[in-house]
Amino acid sequence: MTREEYADLILPNVKHTAAYYEQLYPERDLAEGAIVTRYAPSPTGFVHIGALYSAFIGSKMAQQTNGVFFLRIEDTDQKRSIDDGVNKIIDDLIKFDINFDEGVTKDGDKGAYGPYTQSQRKDIYQAFAKKLIIEDKAYPCFCSESQNKAEREVQEKNKERLGYYGKWAKCRHLSMEEVVQKISNGEKYIIRLKSPGDFNKRFTFKDCIKGKAELPENDEDFPIIKSDGLPTYHFAHAIDDHLMRSTHIIRGDEWYPSVPKHTQLFVMLGFKVPKYAHISPLLKEDNGTRRKISKRKDPEAAISFYHEKGIPNQAIMLYLETVANSNFEMWLEQNKDKDPEEFILDFKKMPTGGTMFDYDKLINISKNYISRLKASEVYDLALVHAQTYDKELEELLEKYKDYSIKIFNIERNQKKPRKDIAYFGDVKNQIWYMYDELFNPPVYEWQKIQDKNEIKLILNTYINEYYDNNDDKDTWFQKMKTLANKLGYAGEMKDYKENPDNYKGNITDISMVLRVALTSKSMTPDLYDIMQLLGPERMKKRMEMSLQ
Ligand code: GLU
Repeated sequence: MTREEYADLILPNVKHTAAYYEQLYPERDLAEGAIVTRYAPSPTGFVHIGALYSAFIGSKMAQQTNGVFFLRIEDTDQKRSIDDGVNKIIDDLIKFDINFDEGVTKDGDKGAYGPYTQSQRKDIYQAFAKKLIIEDKAYPCFCSESQNKAEREVQEKNKERLGYYGKWAKCRHLSMEEVVQKISNGEKYIIRLKSPGDFNKRFTFKDCIKGKAELPENDEDFPIIKSDGLPTYHFAHAIDDHLMRSTHIIRGDEWYPSVPKHTQLFVMLGFKVPKYAHISPLLKEDNGTRRKISKRKDPEAAISFYHEKGIPNQAIMLYLETVANSNFEMWLEQNKDKDPEEFILDFKKMPTGGTMFDYDKLINISKNYISRLKASEVYDLALVHAQTYDKELEELLEKYKDYSIKIFNIERNQKKPRKDIAYFGDVKNQIWYMYDELFNPPVYEWQKIQDKNEIKLILNTYINEYYDNNDDKDTWFQKMKTLANKLGYAGEMKDYKENPDNYKGNITDISMVLRVALTSKSMTPDLYDIMQLLGPERMKKRMEMSLQ
């Protein structure tokens, strides 16, 4: 029996040869330095913030080098796939403006290196596994799960290294005749790599992010094809990234220890080894220890969480970029007029260890981002958010469009713009009192002046004697001072500080009474602008409500 016939017996019905596929997917014709990379999720329907972070880095690296970024779906572990998982992932990524040049889309595959879904590439993997068998670099293994488990227990008991290697690799030494016999007996099998590695030798490599490293060589005969005929992650990674002509493997650093295995696979398959860039995880403090943000434990692990909150995508991207390259914030500070897209990401400046996920910093970035938007943009984004998450606010925003834009415009176009809105889910919480439908008369807990008669006096004197909707801001302010003085409060803070005993209080106490009566809040954006928007009729009504 020739080795070809032997390989045919082990992997029957393979349509094409490895050489055929090599020809089908030629080298890409790209300029020197162009990065070809991918985002390769399993279709679980869930995008983790850490995954978004890697996808962002991959897409930006490809884009800034005029390379290619593609989406590959890794669905060989059928247990992890869910219906519609792929569409959910695509929807989530679109929301964050992660764009793919190639790969799986909602309307099928785009690009010449597909199929981009692993379950559709069975013949390709098997063609290459067959090549390895022919070359005596891979072999079928008939050991059952329970046999493997029993071996592991012995290894544990003897304190030996776990795994299928050296003397533990029983099927490695089966003769062709034995294999043929077992197959004709109907025994089940997987395919393992025949590793030429030596665990006592060091394997050195250079990670684009983590730098130079040394790990033991791989001597494990790890599985490459499972009993269902589908590849393991290791094998699929080598075949796909070679045939899709990826230049860089940008992925989470849980895969870092597998580099010796992967490099060995590339070499044994006769492929050029790609560059690896392992991204350090986002961490969280939990009971005094640091751990990766976890899908199971942390709601903020899912990117849908940010969508629900209404944190603008750009703010999340800006935050992730500050994590990716620590010099980004400084660059942004120095290049205020530039588009953040112009910043060049550098692998060498990426963190080599985990980074604490700083939610407060993200919120701060979000606040700053929203503060720089135009009022009409805030309106549009608040409306989009409300359409999904808050019907009541949606109706108010739609009914009072111009009025709402004016609300958002208060203290906006100025050097230090207002920063009360941290995310769009926070809009109602910040501006509800501007809508009569939501307004509640105040509870006077927080202001200095508690006496109802005094409050009544202040409100009535103001509205009857001083308030004029046509006043400009300076006149308005002068009148507030005059009102204060008239009622025995200091109009100037300086006077009050010099002789506090001469006054009932000062101008801030007066404006607090007005602010609370009109808005039911002790802190709001500019009171003059609020009065302008409310107008005299509603002001009177609210004052009356507050006195009841
Ligand atoms: N499907 C793998 C994962 O979800 C992808 C790792 C890679 O990018 O190679 O972890």
